[in-house]
Amino acid sequence: MSEIWTSRRRELVASIAQMGPAFAARAGEVDREAAFPHENYADLREAGFLGLCIPESHGGLGGDFVTYALVSEELGRHCGSTALTFNMHTATTMLVGQIADDLDMTDEERAVHEERRSELWRGVIAEGRLHAQPFSEGLAPGETAGFAARAVPVDGGYLLTGRKVFASLSEVADLHNVTCMVEGDDRVRFLGVPADADGVIIEGDWDPLGMRGTNSRNLVFDGAFVPAENEFLPPGGFDQMATRWPYFYTTLTFTYLGIQRAVLDYTTDYLRGEGGTSERRDMPQKQHGWAQMRLAWERSQALTYRMLGEVGVDPSPEQLRRAWAATVTAMETAPEVASLAVRVCGGRSLLRPSVLERLYRDARCGATMLPWSVEVTMERLGRAGLYDD
Ligand SMILES: Cc1cc2nc3c(=O)[nH]c(=O)nc-3n(C[C@H](O)[C@H](O)[C@H](O)COP(=O)(O)OP(=O)(O)OC[C@H]3O[C@@H](n4cnc5c(N)ncnc54)[C@H](O)[C@@H]3O)c2cc1C
Repeated sequence: MSEIWTSRRRELVASIAQMGPAFAARAGEVDREAAFPHENYADLREAGFLGLCIPESHGGLGGDFVTYALVSEELGRHCGSTALTFNMHTATTMLVGQIADDLDMTDEERAVHEERRSELWRGVIAEGRLHAQPFSEGLAPGETAGFAARAVPVDGGYLLTGRKVFASLSEVADLHNVTCMVEGDDRVRFLGVPADADGVIIEGDWDPLGMRGTNSRNLVFDGAFVPAENEFLPPGGFDQMATRWPYFYTTLTFTYLGIQRAVLDYTTDYLRGEGGTSERRDMPQKQHGWAQMRLAWERSQALTYRMLGEVGVDPSPEQLRRAWAATVTAMETAPEVASLAVRVCGGRSLLRPSVLERLYRDARCGATMLPWSVEVTMERLGRAGLYDD
C-alpha cells in the first residue's frame, strides 16, 4: 500500500476545492437545461487541469491515476456532470500515458506510440482539445467483447462505421476515441475520430434523469475517416489494458464518491440550520440518520482509498476483487446516502431547485456504467473465489 495523500496531490485537490463553489453555483442551471458546463471547463482549462494526467515534460500537471482519483472526487462534490465528463477526457490522456507505459509493446510500436501520444498531449495543452470515450454500443457489456463498430483500413488511415450510445461530450469533444474492430482481426482498435470528420453524425435527444450536463447523445459514424496517426494504442493494446490494467474501469467511481460528499455537505447545512431552515441537529432521529449516512460514506471512501493504495499493472486476483468491490460500493452508496438524506432533510429537499433533489438523481446513474456496471460487477464478485480464478 502506498501513501495516497502526497503534498502535490493535496495542492491539486485544493485548487479544485477553490473553484468548487463556482461550479456548484452553476450546477443547477446545467441540470435544468441539460447543458454542458462550458464555463467550468474554461476554468479547468485556465488552471491547467485539462493536462492533469499529462507529464510535466509535455506541459501537463504530471498527475497519475491516484491524483486523478482524488481530483475527480473533489470535482464530483461540486458538479457531477463536470466530474463525469472530465473522466472521459482525462482517462484518455492517462490511457496513452501512465497505463500504456506499463503495457508490453515492441520497440517499433513504442516509438510510434510515443510520437502519437505526444501529438495528442500537444493538442490538449496547446489547443485545449477535449477528448471523449464513446465505447458503449448497447449491445454487449464486456470490456473487449463484441464491439460492432468496424474500421476498414484505407490509404492513410481507416474508414469507421458504427454507432455508439451515451457518448458523453458528444457535441463538445474534439476527438471521439472509439473502440472498434477490423474485419478478420480479433484485437480491439482504439481510434480517435476527429469530431469534424465527414460522416460523424450526432443523433437523438438528451433528456435524462440525472447527469444531465454530460451531453451524452448517440454518435453514428458513417464511413468517417480516421488518420492512421490517430490510432492511439497499437492493435491489441486496448485488450492488454483490459486484462492487465483493469483499474481503468474504476475511473468513473470517484465522481460518485464526490457526490456522496456533496450530499453530506447539504445535510450538514440543513441540520445546522444554515440552509434557511431552523436548526435540527439536536433531534435524536436526525442524529441517527446522519450517523447512518456518515457510516455509509466512510465505508465507501475507505474501500476506494484502499484500492488506490494498490493501483497498478497486473493486480492479483484479490486486488481485482477489491476493485470490483470498491466500484459496487461507490456506485450503490451514492444513491443510498442520497436517499437517507431525503429522509433526514424532509419534503422540502424534494422541491426544485433543491440541490439534494439533483444529487439524488445524479447519484442513481452510477450503477449503470458499463462495462463495470453494478450488475456485471456483482455477477463477477458472486463467482470469484468459488471457481477457478
Ligand atoms: C450519464 C451517462 C453517461 C454515459 N457516458 C458514457 C460514455 O461517455 N461512454 C460510454 O462508452 N458509455 C457511456 N455511458 C453508457 C453506460 O456505460 C452504459 O453503457 C449504458 O448505461 C448501458 O445502457 P443500458 O443499461 O440500457 O444497457 P444494457 O446493456 O441493455 O444493460 C441493461 C442492464 O443489464 C445489465 N447487464 C448488461 N449486461 C449484463 C451482463 N452480462 N451481466 C449482468 N448484467 C448485465 C446492465 O448493467 C444494466 O443494468 C453513459 C451512461 C450514462 C447514464
